Amino acid sequence: MTIAPTRDTATALFTALTGAEPAGVWSAPGRVNLIGEHTDYNDGFVLPFAIPHRTVAAVGTRDDARIRVTSTFADEPVEVSLDELGELFPTPSGATPAVPEWAAYPLGVAWALLEAGASGSGLDIALASDVPVGAGLSSSAAIEGATASALNDLWNAGLDRTALARIGRRAENEAVGAPTGIMDQMASMLGEPDAAIFLDCRSLEAQLVPVGIAEAGLAILVMDTRVMHAHSTGGYGERRAACERGASIMGVPSLRDVSVDDLVRAEELMDDVTFRRVRHVVTENQRVLDTVAILREKGARAIGDLLVASHASMRDDFEISVPELDTAVETALASGALGARMTGGGFGGAAIALIEQAAVQQVSDAVTAAFADAGFAAPVIFTVTPAAGAHRDA
Ligand code: ADP
Ligand code: MG
Repeated sequence: MTIAPTRDTATALFTALTGAEPAGVWSAPGRVNLIGEHTDYNDGFVLPFAIPHRTVAAVGTRDDARIRVTSTFADEPVEVSLDELGELFPTPSGATPAVPEWAAYPLGVAWALLEAGASGSGLDIALASDVPVGAGLSSSAAIEGATASALNDLWNAGLDRTALARIGRRAENEAVGAPTGIMDQMASMLGEPDAAIFLDCRSLEAQLVPVGIAEAGLAILVMDTRVMHAHSTGGYGERRAACERGASIMGVPSLRDVSVDDLVRAEELMDDVTFRRVRHVVTENQRVLDTVAILREKGARAIGDLLVASHASMRDDFEISVPELDTAVETALASGALGARMTGGGFGGAAIALIEQAAVQQVSDAVTAAFADAGFAAPVIFTVTPAAGAHRDA
């Protein structure tokens, strides 16, 4: 995959908007989470990697103090003054943003940077992306990461990658109003080719873990079910609330502080649903630690069972899978995948499978056929390799 077409699209959009060339072009990737789902907001562990699909921001400075954003998603640009950002955001809890939702991502990033003490001239921002939207591949972190990188450079804000990830998260939480954790932004900012990011979501300490997928003759298949999720509503909020309830019953700040051995006591103390939510998070944290250890000791070929156990936990205990995801996972495993699991927040989106490189076509065809048999809309299936994080492109 090459970023050139997306970069050309963003640059052309910028020129159509302003009649000028951008001062620069920045991009940030989407991500796939290899393992560690719904652990991030529980102060736990995750192991995502950046994917080759990216969002590109072509950006130029202005003589005035206005900020104008446009996107291939949008019918028309959105323009506000920098002063106004503080009146628009934060978006009150439960409300929709005062600007079109897509514009709340880049404008929210600008707002969060101003809040963090940055300052600078007005800007024009044109966005294009080849990250599938709403597929659990975090097009949201990609748009935040591309915008945050651009503004950090053009405003000379001097923030490091972790700080920029926090800026992106703040935009998503407080400007868009989606209560997400920090994983996506960290993966998008910190990714490196052929590495996953082992992230402690409590300390934000991140370690790059070589995955050696291609080296082992393997591929990671993404099976996008095309079922859309609504992240900021419903099930996601309910799961977070259950986790908070569970932690409070256990008398700890977060489920990070509950170990697998503590689960016996947890089961005695809480109702069945809360317990199962807790068990997912606690065992998933352990699976992330185990996956990192196995990657380091034995390599990618040996992590399949952990992926399968992760999916079962999300399906049965956390109850965030859907029939399309289960079909993708089961069919991939039945056609020889070493492991497979849904990835992302759930209620739709994508599943991943770890497969032999030689089996890409065979597994893809089997999953496509299984979807047709079940009467599901056709999935979109492609391979990904761990790719670079956010950077300036031109
Ligand atoms: P995901 O991150 O899994 O793709 P989200 O619901 O978190 O799904 O984020 C998707 C939203 O992000 C889109 O509905 C849109 O508002 C915004 N978005 C993503 N990419 C772009 C883009 N290139 N231009 C404008 N908005 C975008
Ligand atoms: Mg998202």
